[in-house]
Amino acid sequence: MNRGIGIAGIAGRMGRLLAEEVVAAGLPLVGGIDRAPVGAARMFPDMAALAASCDVVVDFTHASAVAGHAAALAAAGTAWVLGTTGLSADDETAVTEAARRVAVVQAPNFSPGVNLVLALAGRMAAALPGDAYDAEIVEMHHRQKVDAPSGTALGLGEAVARGRGVSLELVRESGRDGHTGPRKPNAIGFAALRGGQVVGEHTLIFAAAGEHIAVTHRAFDRRVFATGAIRAARWTEGRTPGRYSMMDVLGMTGAGA
Ligand code: NAD
Repeated sequence: MNRGIGIAGIAGRMGRLLAEEVVAAGLPLVGGIDRAPVGAARMFPDMAALAASCDVVVDFTHASAVAGHAAALAAAGTAWVLGTTGLSADDETAVTEAARRVAVVQAPNFSPGVNLVLALAGRMAAALPGDAYDAEIVEMHHRQKVDAPSGTALGLGEAVARGRGVSLELVRESGRDGHTGPRKPNAIGFAALRGGQVVGEHTLIFAAAGEHIAVTHRAFDRRVFATGAIRAARWTEGRTPGRYSMMDVLGMTGAGA
């Protein structure tokens, strides 16, 4: 890396961890942008200034910042590792536009373990027919989380649906309550638990008459997302423009997800 890594949202929960992990990995930390300064990191006035000084910017900010960041990074020719979630369709279009000019790695979850489970989910679903193996996804997160099911749970549901060649929207069953009637064949069910400080737990279950298969991922520490994002940042070095996922970084494309 010639210049180094910049962090957008460097004062946030993820941004502070990222700064620590970049330094711990012995990589050059150029600095960051945020609404307020943090620690000893060099602060830049805006994304254009940060992008001009970095090889790659790791971005964990807010969806409202995404379109502006996309334009600034594309203009500077600087790679982008995008962890921010909750993007609108217009934001996604802005990401696609930027990916014509620079390498963009975008993932709703940068944990290597979750991405492996996502790859497995598609392969399992393709092998286990929906009329015999009921797919259920259970997730638990801390009490502050405002959306349900989590983006990762929906990603698991999408992987199962893709593996079965169906649209998730047509088979999704969320938050059962009251007299729901029997479970529909081929449905993909979601249940969300909330409490305490749980960083993120996801279990994918395939339940048949004679057997159950369950795959669980538990994140105990947000640091796992930070180290995954830094791995993605290193991977962008010398990469041609395009829109990439964590699966590409981990060499798991074509693994059935
Ligand atoms: P946070 O609120 O603690 O931090 C966000 C930081 O971004 C704040 O310091 C805020 O001031 C700053 N910010 C917001 N808009 C900005 C802008 N326009 N310019 C510069 N700085 C700006 O939140 P967090 O927990 O660190 O999460 C940040 C984002 O990352 C969220 O969208 C969250 O869902 C996502 N996230 C993704 C993953 C993943 O693996 N992909 C993991 C954790 C969190």
